[in-house]
Amino acid sequence: MSLTWNREWILPSESLWSILEKLKYANQINTKQLLQSYGSTEAKKIKAGKLGKRFRNINSLDGLDVDLLEKATGINLENYKRDAIQSVYRVVPKIIQSKNIINENLVYCTECISQGFHSFLHQVVLFEKCPFHLSKLEKLCKNCSNNIPYLLPQHELESGFLCNCGESMVRKKSGYNFMESWTHELAIRDERILSGFSMSTKLLNKIESTILHGKLVLNDTNRFKIMDHLFASMENENKGGTRLTFKMNFNNSNSKEVEINLYDEIYNTSRDVLISFEKFLLRTILFEHSHCIRRFSGLYKSREDKEFPKICPYAYAYIFWKESLFGINPFYNEVIPRKKRALKELELPFYCNNDAIKETIAYILKNFGGLLNHRSLMWVIRHMVWNVAKNHFNEWIVIAREYAEKSIRPKTRYDEFNFAEIISFTIDENESVIELFLSSSDEIHQKKQMQCPYNNQMKEFRKDEFSHLPMRLAINPGFNNEKKAAEKYLYGLRIISLIK
Ligand SMILES: [Zn+2]
Ligand SMILES: [Zn+2]
Ligand SMILES: [Zn+2]
Repeated sequence: MSLTWNREWILPSESLWSILEKLKYANQINTKQLLQSYGSTEAKKIKAGKLGKRFRNINSLDGLDVDLLEKATGINLENYKRDAIQSVYRVVPKIIQSKNIINENLVYCTECISQGFHSFLHQVVLFEKCPFHLSKLEKLCKNCSNNIPYLLPQHELESGFLCNCGESMVRKKSGYNFMESWTHELAIRDERILSGFSMSTKLLNKIESTILHGKLVLNDTNRFKIMDHLFASMENENKGGTRLTFKMNFNNSNSKEVEINLYDEIYNTSRDVLISFEKFLLRTILFEHSHCIRRFSGLYKSREDKEFPKICPYAYAYIFWKESLFGINPFYNEVIPRKKRALKELELPFYCNNDAIKETIAYILKNFGGLLNHRSLMWVIRHMVWNVAKNHFNEWIVIAREYAEKSIRPKTRYDEFNFAEIISFTIDENESVIELFLSSSDEIHQKKQMQCPYNNQMKEFRKDEFSHLPMRLAINPGFNNEKKAAEKYLYGLRIISLIK
């Protein structure tokens, strides 16, 4: 079978999926027929039945005979794929490249696909909008509302650009020559991608080596912000955001450093940072709420009061921040983890985002361990941990008003929280400088003004109020009703350490 094909049908940044759908459309063949003639030896053997995912995989190209297709169309899909990946990766930090940043299902722009065009840029999880039309990208079929796998399709319809349900993704306009539109090149309008294309090697290298929390930034809240963050961090003038620099001094390796157990140092430094952060909170945002905190954490109430009193949202945010950050029960007098000695592996003294931060630290040790001296490394870690603590507090602040009023804890797992603010580090070897960049400089607690239910006169305990903490009540005989009430109240608050 010879193929009808025109080299000019391939437009810049077109995806392999799009090229293969064009090929099928132009030749009125289905996936199976394509593989019968241009498939790999193994794929050709499948005469009847379904084609496995493996043979329809566009990333591995396992089902296709790349050489044979090159002879028929003049295009080497393997090379094309490699160049496509490289063109995307040049503006993506290495630490993120190792993550899966290509969508497993088709992501498409309605306008692009109606002219038979799909770009590999659409598949990158970092973009929310079509780089050509700036319109929102789609994920589901308009007809069956299912995801469309990013594979050569399984159906046996002899036409391209169809969902598995048979629905065409191409908008049919009367008097419109679909195949003629295949050569209409679209201009990229996304400024970030455009400036990425014209970026100097120096800046591209800087992006490549940028350190950020790979695991945390790729969630649905943050992934669309990464590109903006990176480009803002590359700009020299300060257009918003927070920038901090640290002058490194290389290779002043004194013998003392050698004796330090790095894992102990990381653990204990992080612990110190968290203690300082807590003190900072209590001195600033929480300064006027120390009574509210004692009231809530001590479960104060009188015998006569049926309900426990209102929870101040600031006290609520603080208590639960501490609970989920350290994994400790604030109502059981549990203390934050102690200092550690002689650690054999990387450990961190907090639970929230623990894996993600550990992964980043391990990445730094592996890739920059030889470059950063001890002080520089600790500078990075101190800022990272401070940021984790701050973000986590902000996450509680955001939901505090609503849930303090209901006296419940809405989330029952540590990692249901999304990192609110992206932090990144770049290391400039020539200037011997490490730079930290936070794209936002807003303090959430300032934007989120909350009402404290206790005004100044009320910030004292009444004489008949006493602590209903289970430990306090336990030493008193009787008080059975109080014990039950406290237990019920704590259960409603869904303290993690009680449930786990
Ligand atoms: Zn588009
Ligand atoms: Zn469908
Ligand atoms: Zn208060």
